[in-house]
Amino acid sequence: MDNKDLALYPYVAEASRYVESLDFSLDSLISSRAMDSARARGKERVLQSIAGEIVKPPLSNSDDRKILIELLSYPFSRILVSCIDDPFLTRRYSLAEAVASYKSLKVMDIAFLGEFSLDFNIHAEKKESAARIHFTDYIRLASSLKAMEWKLVNRKMDHGYVTVSREEFARLLQEGVRHRIEGSLPMKVPGEVCLSCQPYIADIMTALNERKSRFESSEFQTVEAGLFPPCITRAISQSQAGVNLAHSMRFAMTSFLLGIGMSVDDIMNLFTSSPDFDVDKARYQVEHIAGSSGTSYKPPSCATMQTYGNCYAPDETCKRISHPLNYYRRRVWFNNRDVQKEKEEQPSDDPAPIP
Ligand code: SF4
Repeated sequence: MDNKDLALYPYVAEASRYVESLDFSLDSLISSRAMDSARARGKERVLQSIAGEIVKPPLSNSDDRKILIELLSYPFSRILVSCIDDPFLTRRYSLAEAVASYKSLKVMDIAFLGEFSLDFNIHAEKKESAARIHFTDYIRLASSLKAMEWKLVNRKMDHGYVTVSREEFARLLQEGVRHRIEGSLPMKVPGEVCLSCQPYIADIMTALNERKSRFESSEFQTVEAGLFPPCITRAISQSQAGVNLAHSMRFAMTSFLLGIGMSVDDIMNLFTSSPDFDVDKARYQVEHIAGSSGTSYKPPSCATMQTYGNCYAPDETCKRISHPLNYYRRRVWFNNRDVQKEKEEQPSDDPAPIP
């Protein structure tokens, strides 16, 4: 890889060796005036990941200074993420770095992807305009991809090798990058280094808290469990009784509860009785549905719920709606109206006006 590529993919072993050869100390990265731009870009990387996308600057091999800033900004952004040590930020940052890499990888040729993948211990073979990778490597990279087309049973296998298109290869490598970055964070950073980084950390914390609160905001002021549709009520009680919910029902329940304003933590508490409960996996899934990757998911309509066998004991209100969220909206509206009416009909404690 040339230096421009090392700046684009600063987590590969060759980039680390290159940075080491430059002989910059941690001290100079944290406090030297000459490193101002690298630190500013490192902070920007983290802020952009919170906003949803790390934007890579256009680079050419003659841009020595820009390349250096981009390269050194990466370890600084990792220091910031490590000092903050927030699982949501770590996941979001790792994903954003991986997606930024995917965007440049998907336009590279198979030969480059093959060379890049060696860093991840993948020995791909070129096959015309596609690549063949061993099924064990394929499973390792594709296991977190949920779409049906990534399931091994839906791929053609030839003597233990799976053929993937150039874009698919880049997408699989995105997963490799994400696992590598996420798995290496948080780093152990000395307390005094985190202290020196406080001015950068303060801005990131503001953006992070604002982003998290957006997940948790909702049109509904309070959560009224007694007004949930029958399908969601049943899913919650099954979950609390330790019944393992089908994936589609778990998704419907989570997206519904997020949609009415429940926090990620409160939803996590509902799942703790599930027999296959894995706290990290569950949190990742709930945050993903809440929008940690930039897309927040809406609950499925009643028609989709019916298709997957998740519509349970529809009642009178169900006859008037076509979406579980509308069920809740309707019940909340009528409930508020009844409460208001009751208040108005209650006799006043004020003394009657003197005629
Ligand atoms: S009709 Fe809709 S809201 Fe009612 S139980 Fe079925 S899926 Fe749920």
